[in-house]
This record gives sequence, C-alpha cells and structure tokens, in this order.
Amino acid sequence: MESFDAVVLGGGAVGCATLFHLTRLGCRRVLLLERGDIAGGTTAQSSGILRTYYSVRPNVAVARAALAMFQDFPALLEDEEADCGLIRTGYLAVAPEGKAALALERTIAAQQELGIAARLVDHAEARAIHPWLDLSDIALCGYEEEAGFADPYMTAHAFARAARRQGAVIRQGAPVLGLLREGGRVRGLRTGGGDIAAGVVVSTLNVWSPLLRGWAEAEIPCHASRHLVASFAADAPYTSALPVLKDFASPLMLYSRPHAGSEILVGAGDAGDEVADPDGGTGDIPMDWVAEVGAQLAHRMPRFAEHGRFVRAWAGLYDTTPDWNPVLGKLPGIEGLLVAFGFSGHGFKLSPMVGRMLAQAALGLPPDLPLDPYRATRFAEGAPLRGAFGSGAVS
Ligand SMILES: Cc1cc2nc3c(=O)[nH]c(=O)nc-3n(C[C@H](O)[C@H](O)[C@H](O)COP(=O)(O)OP(=O)(O)OC[C@H]3O[C@@H](n4cnc5c(N)ncnc54)[C@H](O)[C@@H]3O)c2cc1C
Repeated sequence: MESFDAVVLGGGAVGCATLFHLTRLGCRRVLLLERGDIAGGTTAQSSGILRTYYSVRPNVAVARAALAMFQDFPALLEDEEADCGLIRTGYLAVAPEGKAALALERTIAAQQELGIAARLVDHAEARAIHPWLDLSDIALCGYEEEAGFADPYMTAHAFARAARRQGAVIRQGAPVLGLLREGGRVRGLRTGGGDIAAGVVVSTLNVWSPLLRGWAEAEIPCHASRHLVASFAADAPYTSALPVLKDFASPLMLYSRPHAGSEILVGAGDAGDEVADPDGGTGDIPMDWVAEVGAQLAHRMPRFAEHGRFVRAWAGLYDTTPDWNPVLGKLPGIEGLLVAFGFSGHGFKLSPMVGRMLAQAALGLPPDLPLDPYRATRFAEGAPLRGAFGSGAVS
C-alpha cells in the first residue's frame, strides 16, 4: 500500500495552503488528493475580499495573520514571482443608526486593540475615500486601510506550486472514496486507485465535508447554501482606487468591490438558500434578484441609477455552519483526522493562516493561534462564535 505522512483532501484555497505549510514545516511525504482541478471548487466562485473587519475576536487574529501572508506572499513562498493578485483598496463599512452602528463601533475597537489600522471616519472622509457614495441614511462609517482583495484561483495555484517544489505530491482527478479506520483512529483512505496509508489526514472538503458523516460516522454541522454575485458597469470605470464597501444599511446587506478593471462586483450578505446536493449545479440567476441588487446599489451610489448596466452574474456555494464560523481541528473521539469546514463565505481571507494552523496541529506542533475556539463541539456546548452582525459572512 502507498504510504504518506500526511494526506490533504481537497485542493481549494484551504487545502493548498495546508499542503504548502506542511512542506514548509518539514513534512516531505505529503499528498493532496483533489477529485477535480486545483481551485475548481468553491474557491473559483469567490469574491476574494480580504479584511480583518470581524466582531468575533479569534477571527480578527486569524485574518490579521493571514493578511500579513497575502501582503508578503513572494517572501512566504520564497519565490519572487509568486503572485496572489493582491490589490489594496481599503475596506469601508457604513451602517445606519442602531444595532449595526453599535456593532461597527465595537468591531473597529476590537481591531484597534490588535493594532490594526482601522478607524471610524466621518462622512466627509468617507466620501473622500469613496466619492460615489450617498451617505444620507448612514450614521457611522469605519475604514480599514490595509484591506482589499486578492485572486483566490492564483493564490491556491501558487500554494500548490510551492508545495510541489518542496516535494509534495498533488493528484488531480483523484476522488477520495472513504477513510480507512481502525477503532477510533483514521489510518488512511480509499481511492479509485487503491488504498493509501496516512499518518494523518486533513480534510478540507468545504461543501462536500458532509461526506465525513458516512466516512467517519461523525457529526458534521454544515450545510451548503447558495449565494449570488453580480457585476455592473456605470458611465465611468469603477476602478481599484475605490474601496471594498460593506453596506449594513442595505436590505440585502450588500458587499461590493472593484472588479475586472472597470466594473463593480456586488454580493448579498443574506443567509442564502439551502442546497441539498452540492453537485446539483448552482442554478439560474433570477433577474428579479439582479434588479433588486441593482436598485439597492443605485440607492447607495446614485450614479448607477442613471447609468448602471448589468454585466454578468454567477452563483456559488457556502459551507455554512450554525454560527457562520468554521470548524477547525479534531472531531470528538476520532484520532488521525483534522477537519476544516464551515467557512460560511469568508474562508479565502483566512486560508493562508488556517493552513498553517492545521499543518502545525497535524504535525503535533502547537498552532500559532488557538484552534480551540473553532472546535466542533462548541454548538453542543452552547458556546457558538456568534458575531455582532447576525447571520452572515461578516461574523
Ligand atoms: C460566491 C462566493 C463569494 C465568496 N467571497 C468571499 C470573499 O469575498 N472573501 C472570502 O474570504 N471568502 C469568500 N468566499 C468563501 C471562500 O471562497 C471559501 O471559503 C474558500 O475559497 C473555500 O476554500 P476551500 O479550500 O475550503 O474549499 P473548495 O475550494 O471548495 O475546495 C474543496 C475541494 O474539495 C474537492 N473535493 C470534494 N469532494 C472530494 C473528494 N471526494 N475527493 C477529493 N476532493 C474532493 C472539491 O473538488 C474542491 O476543489 C466566497 C465564496 C463564494 C461561494
């Protein structure tokens, strides 16, 4: 039987980052199995926004460490040509009077406590940062300077390439069919090409993680939910001089960012529709949804009311947990297996650091940041990681 010290399941942003960090930490006999292509899963559907703007403290710390990795990507990968497509635009959050404004204030304070360059800005400064905005119904604005977006596809491929250079084996078109178990311990996995023994298995299967229910007889608190993204153009290019925007005053809690050089990419911060089968396709884009998003966008940026033009839209899947935060680490009663699932629409920005924490745990090293807040048992314990903004990817 083939044998590896560590095997990563799934070649998305999280799996590729984990593979890279395993090799960087000295693990050489390491394998990644991807049933399709690298970054061909939900990573390819991502909006790619990077921010540390979170009300859940552990997320702020993980996102900050991950952002530093994005910012220093060539040095991290020891390859001056390594590119994650990072564009620093800043992140502007705007909120109406009430609960959202209080949450915004608390979030900025939490970021500042960790030394992050985030601050409340008045309307004049917010308009200087983003001259297209109508802020007449906005009470409070917060700005995070270092935030922006990156390219999830490029990032995952760069991690995969660097891991391969360091000796990792990557197999694409290689679906995992099950786990090999001995009592409470995972010893390897089953594939179409035969069984493989593994010292440790790290599962990063995102919306396909419920497969572990059958494979490991484990409780997997995660379901797939469908989320739409649309891009629009106006009479002037919507360039990367404009920040990522989170509009807590919009009924759909819209987020947006510059896209493709001249368009705006807009997504909704709602709970999305539950999807029973993640392989069942992502479905059609209802034009009334596009019209609704367009109207809410035009309310915040009146320029789109007169000159807005719908360009394109797509749908993607989130691996959503009950508290909209990931589950990371061991599952109760199962040795030899680490999991990462439930990123609930905000996993790309965390992925470089989550990969490092998982790799450290897989090799028996203490993770740089604690995995414990993300334990699978937190739901049963009544200790979910509830954010101040309610259900949604801004957790
Ligand atoms: C529309 C949308 C917008 C988003 N926007 C943002 C954003 O702005 N910022 C942000 O931080 N995050 C965002 N996200 C979330 C982020 O993109 C994801 O959390 C992240 O990319 C997930 O990476 P992953 O490696 O966990 O999953 P995936 O990329 O889905 O990787 C899982 C892999 O497992 C493979 N697989 C499945 N079954 C098997 C099997 N049996 N054997 C082997 N391989 C298997 C799949 O083929 C897939 O490639 C967004 C997501 C969506 C859908």
